[in-house]
Amino acid sequence: MEHLNADTGPRELKYAVLHLQAAAEVLLKSRLLREHWSLVFSDPARATSEKFSASDFNSCGTDAAVERLKNICGLDFSKKDVAALKDLGKDRNALQHYGLTHSAEAVESRAGAVLDFLLRFLDAELLPLLDAQERDSIKEDMSRVRSGLNTIEAFVVERMNRLRGNELKGTTDSLLPCSVCGQWALAVIQNGAHCHFCGVTESAEALALVFQEFEPGHPANECPRCCNPTLACFAFMDGAGEELYYCFTCQARYKLEELANCGGCGCLWPYEGADDGTAQMLCGDCRRRIEDEELASRW
Ligand SMILES: [Zn+2]
Ligand SMILES: [Zn+2]
Ligand SMILES: [Zn+2]
Repeated sequence: MEHLNADTGPRELKYAVLHLQAAAEVLLKSRLLREHWSLVFSDPARATSEKFSASDFNSCGTDAAVERLKNICGLDFSKKDVAALKDLGKDRNALQHYGLTHSAEAVESRAGAVLDFLLRFLDAELLPLLDAQERDSIKEDMSRVRSGLNTIEAFVVERMNRLRGNELKGTTDSLLPCSVCGQWALAVIQNGAHCHFCGVTESAEALALVFQEFEPGHPANECPRCCNPTLACFAFMDGAGEELYYCFTCQARYKLEELANCGGCGCLWPYEGADDGTAQMLCGDCRRRIEDEELASRW
């Protein structure tokens, strides 16, 4: 908390991330410990009480702790919380290898999401298990952390409000959630998108993969206009939230009914003509290929 509230230089942010990651791991494991001590071993099948009392074992990491809390203790974690914990782990690893890879704004926003989760987790899972004396002894620390989280949230709200009145004004039909800081401040530009909250710029290819909502992980479609494989299907934040096809390279937009699958290769292509249900629609490539074949067969 103190590192985040200081003048948030790179050094302070580094310690904030390292401490926060350690805190998350300890708190998740302490809930596992309440279930059974063997669950904090990296391999519970090889756990022995001797090793446990001598603290002579490798313990599980954050990801495994979350899995076990879900599968064995029956806890419910939202997708958003799991993603926030994973991001924090990545930030920590990146820090150890090449220093801070995100802006101070991004780290602060991400840390805020994890702190918010940890406080809810403490309230729901750990604090009720403490006796009155224990609870009393951490009261002061808890209120300091809570007010610190309020400060971070206030920073995020204030910055977002300022951006909405300036850089993001009139862009609601071209805004996406940023995968780095989590804020709806990622504005599309030619060949990609730029986040006004944390300053990250993402490539068209990376964005097409992230926002390929109908088939996650599947390569994105080729764009009928610029031919780059960066056509994705999703909804911008425009209130209506209607899905559309959007090319992250050339910024072409198509309504869903404007594109149909080519009868030859299956790619998406602008649909022309009346739909009587019989006509096969062909893309430019397939039409040319068939014309060439017909020409060749005449000779
Ligand atoms: Zn961002
Ligand atoms: Zn395009
Ligand atoms: Zn085709």
